[in-house]
Amino acid sequence: MKVVLNIAVSGCLLGQKIRFDGGHKQDRFITDELARFATFTSFCPEHLTFGTPRPSVRVVRRKDGTVIESNKSGADVTKMLTEGSQQELSSISQHPLGGIIFKSNSPSCGLGSAKAYLPNGFAEGKTDGVFARLCREKFPLLPMEEEGRLNDPWLRENFVMQLFAYGAFEQFKGSGPSMKKLIDFHQRHKFMLQAKDERAYRMLGNIVGNRTQQEFTQLLARYETIFKTAIARKSSIGKTRNVLEHMAGFVKNNLTPVEKEMLHEQIRDYAATIIPLIVPLSTLEIFARKYEADYLLSQAFLRPYPKELALRSDIRSGK
Ligand code: SF4
Repeated sequence: MKVVLNIAVSGCLLGQKIRFDGGHKQDRFITDELARFATFTSFCPEHLTFGTPRPSVRVVRRKDGTVIESNKSGADVTKMLTEGSQQELSSISQHPLGGIIFKSNSPSCGLGSAKAYLPNGFAEGKTDGVFARLCREKFPLLPMEEEGRLNDPWLRENFVMQLFAYGAFEQFKGSGPSMKKLIDFHQRHKFMLQAKDERAYRMLGNIVGNRTQQEFTQLLARYETIFKTAIARKSSIGKTRNVLEHMAGFVKNNLTPVEKEMLHEQIRDYAATIIPLIVPLSTLEIFARKYEADYLLSQAFLRPYPKELALRSDIRSGK
């Protein structure tokens, strides 16, 4: 089933000239790559509150609490910016959202990266921007990331996988879910969950097993929380290697000795960071097709997002 994403994005990352100085910070991965598979809802709490151009602002930790100050006048603009951010939040909430990408370092949009200052002007740590904090509170399970961190191929691959898995769950939830469909969904996500969080995978298996005979709506709500938390975790080379070995087990009885040796050599080479993940996965897919291993072919982990994004072709996407 094709997953259609709607992602809320800091407008300046989309190339809109709405920064305090009238400039933008277009991010090519978002506008050129992700845009092929997603629609965007843009936001800019500062443009909405103060217009453009405007004096820049910063986070200041005063004795009586954290405030937002104008860099030009030193005025406390916390109330104005919080109200503008709340308005922007309710505006983006009109659309069903599949994720949020924030501009890093911003006192409004920074997700843990907004610099905080002491009243004497010295920097003191980092924090969430005003708008990002409100988003975290309102959407605790929604995939969220900053464009700066997405320059790391490992974080990028994990985040995009999370976006599409989240979208798949939302689509499943909107399709008239039943116990039978939930079991099917869970089975299709087995290897993805194991690559991210084995313990959560087992907890979800227990929920689906429903030994306590819980009512379906409650059971689905528990499943949703743990599933969305698990897909936010990062995979590692070690966990992914285990998953690859496990997947290989589904075709091992069909493989010739040469095929078997070749597949295991590729898995070892992946674990040694000699080749990227796409290599053993493609081999597994070829064997799964050749030997009609339908269970493997149904796995979301084999193609968690459109292959054109080619994120697993980068050797740095494994850590
Ligand atoms: S408030 Fe956010 S969206 Fe607006 S310019 Fe600053 S970083 Fe970009």
